[in-house]
Amino acid sequence: MAYNPFFDFTAGLAKTMKVPVGTKADIVKHIKTVESTLKIERENNHWERNGYSTVSDEVLCEIAEEHNTWVIWFYNRLEAWAEKPPKPFEKMTKKDFKYYLPALVRVIVPPERWTRDYYRKRMEVLYEVMRSRECEGITFDEKALTTKQASQVINLFSEFLDVHDLRLAVPKDCDYLASLSEGEYEWCERCGAITYEHSLECRKHGCPLKKEHAEEER
Ligand SMILES: [Zn+2]
Repeated sequence: MAYNPFFDFTAGLAKTMKVPVGTKADIVKHIKTVESTLKIERENNHWERNGYSTVSDEVLCEIAEEHNTWVIWFYNRLEAWAEKPPKPFEKMTKKDFKYYLPALVRVIVPPERWTRDYYRKRMEVLYEVMRSRECEGITFDEKALTTKQASQVINLFSEFLDVHDLRLAVPKDCDYLASLSEGEYEWCERCGAITYEHSLECRKHGCPLKKEHAEEER
């Protein structure tokens, strides 16, 4: 497994860069919103980690999701702008970047504060990685697990992490996580997790769910 470090080892900007007009104002606005919402202080040019105790779980998860996505977006944009300078442009100097740098880290949410949506998003990222599809800078570096294997791994950890009882699983013949409690799949005693659509076409002899749905349709 490998993690893209993004800005973790970045000491600064090598030289002034051309970025699209308005970028710098947008960056400052974003950083100030995160810092004021989560009450993050800057100390010795680092974000001081705090327990984010002044905000609700919902706000924390929402800001973390947005900010962490933004860090990756900014990293990728910088590479793209360096390769092909935008027009019209404004200049991003080393000094500008020095102000951004403390904020170019992820906001880590401890599992006990994960909301329903945040848990789901995290599991979806892990699922993608286990299927050998790079996600949020994480690569598997191993042969992809099958949909069933990856589903089982998610299931194993759900005992500790699925406090909102989403019951995520990969439905039969699908390649994504679905939630039982959200009604996205059903449980068949013969086929396991299966979507409503798939159950209608189930070829398993005597599939009880298919029979049940067929009776409903009548
Ligand atoms: Zn069945």
